Amino acid sequence: MATTRRPLIAGNWKMNLNHLQSIAFVQKLAWALKDKKFNGQEVEVGVFPPFTDLRSVQTLINADDLPLTLGAQDLSVHDEGAHTGDISGSFLSALECTYVLVGHSERRADHHEDDDTCAGKVQAALRNGLTPILCVGETTEDLEKFGASKVPVDQLSAVLSAIPQGSDIVVAYEPVWAIGSGQAATPDQAEDVCRALRETIRTLHGDDAAESTRILYGGSVKSTNIAGFMKRENIDGALVGGASLDVDEFVAIARFPQHVSVE
Ligand code: PEP
Repeated sequence: MATTRRPLIAGNWKMNLNHLQSIAFVQKLAWALKDKKFNGQEVEVGVFPPFTDLRSVQTLINADDLPLTLGAQDLSVHDEGAHTGDISGSFLSALECTYVLVGHSERRADHHEDDDTCAGKVQAALRNGLTPILCVGETTEDLEKFGASKVPVDQLSAVLSAIPQGSDIVVAYEPVWAIGSGQAATPDQAEDVCRALRETIRTLHGDDAAESTRILYGGSVKSTNIAGFMKRENIDGALVGGASLDVDEFVAIARFPQHVSVE
C-alpha cells in the first residue's frame, strides 16, 4: 500500500438488509467503530447498501456525522426518462452518494453487462459527480485459459479508453472464483494482477493517474487475511461482501493498520 493513497474498505451489502435493518446495522457499526477508536482519517470506510436503504443510511451518516462514506451498487447508463426500474446517477448524487459500483461480476453474470455497458455506466457516474468503483476479474475458466491478468486488464482497458484522462475512478480487482467462495487469492496473486492494472492505467492515462488511482482487492476478504493484502504495494483497500454484514468482522477489517503493525 502506497502511503499517498488513502486506503478504502468498502462493504458491498449486495441484496441484504431492508431499510429498517439497515438503520439498526449502521447504528451498531457506528458504535463498534467508536468503541474500537477507529481512525477515520487513516482509513476510509464505505457502505454500499441496496437502493431502498440509501436514504435511511444517508440520514444516519449526516445526523451523527459518522465516519462512513456512502455508495450504491449500480446505476443506469441514462440520466432520466423511460427506463423503468433503472436508477439515475443524478438520483444517487442527490442522496450524497460518493461512490457507485460498476461491473460487479454478479451484474456481469446476472444482467449480461459487458464492457460497453460498464463504460457507459462509468461515464454516467462521472457525469453525475460520482466516483465509479469499476470491478474487474477473471472466472475460473478465464484463469485456466488466459492466466490471471488478461481478462481484468482487458476489462479495465475497455473502460479507460472510453473516459478522459484524469477521470477519478477506483478499480476493484475481484477474481470471480474468490467471491463468496471462502477461497481468497493469495496476496502474491492479488498483487501481481493489481500491479498489471496499475501499469495499464499508466499506459492509457499517464503517471499521475497510475500513482493516484486506488486499486482494491475483493474476494473472501476477512479480518484474518486483510493484513496480508494491505502490505502489498499496489493494493489500496478491499471490497468486502459477506464479511461486511458482520459488524465485528467488518470493523476488524477496517482496523487493519493494527493487524499490519503487530504481524
Ligand atoms: C463482493 O461481493 O464484492 C465480494 C468480494 O464478496 P465476498 O467478500 O463475500 O467474497
